[in-house]
Amino acid sequence: MVQEAQASAKNGQMMKQMLEDTQGEVEALKTELARTQKEATTDPLTALKNRRAFESATKELMSQLGSEELTDLCLLMVDIDHFKRVNDTYGHLVGDKVIISAARLLSANVNDKDVAARFGGEEFAVLLPGTSVINGVKIAEVLRSGVERMRIKKMDTGEPLSKVTISIGVTAMKKGDDIPSLIDRADKALYASKTQGRNRVTSEL
Ligand code: GH3
Ligand code: MG
Ligand code: MG
Repeated sequence: MVQEAQASAKNGQMMKQMLEDTQGEVEALKTELARTQKEATTDPLTALKNRRAFESATKELMSQLGSEELTDLCLLMVDIDHFKRVNDTYGHLVGDKVIISAARLLSANVNDKDVAARFGGEEFAVLLPGTSVINGVKIAEVLRSGVERMRIKKMDTGEPLSKVTISIGVTAMKKGDDIPSLIDRADKALYASKTQGRNRVTSEL
């Protein structure tokens, strides 16, 4: 009887240990999954969302359009002006620092509900849910003037870089839009900002 009780207690302990081990493994897998998901959706240079994450966030927000909570969806396409010159003058590392600084300024000037992403190279996309084109233009102007006022210095010598500027195209979601048509319209507005002299905001309804 005593032996049986001892054996059953031992079994119980072993089961408890096995359960704890399994729970530990599940937790470790969950952490690893979260890390991998974060890595797959984050741009490594700027820590902004990458293009893939931007597109899935856009899809999600588009599907909510028309519901009571969300009536407008505004998109800003942002491109650093004459960025090739920055690289050519100061080198790629300084170029990277300029991209990081612009990214920080963008994310510091949008709300939590907004989506700021690195769309590629020296281009960013900012999605503003619940924002009309008129208000999107105002926010774009804050971003544009903020970048213009940035003072970036070279890391080694402290030498200030020449002024960095951005051009922005603004549009808002219309009936019948999909992601490509929305981006295309914002791109057209961005192109107009470029051809009209850069360092400006243009909207396309
Ligand atoms: P525009 O005003 O018309 O936009 O001119 P631009 O020079 O900014 O445009 P262009 O497309 O000619 O050049 C973009 C440059 O950005 C070329 C590419 O080498 C550089 N670039 C893209 N991604 C990165 C990056 O991650 N780091 C650095 N340092 N440069 C990058
Ligand atoms: Mg570009
Ligand atoms: Mg550019």
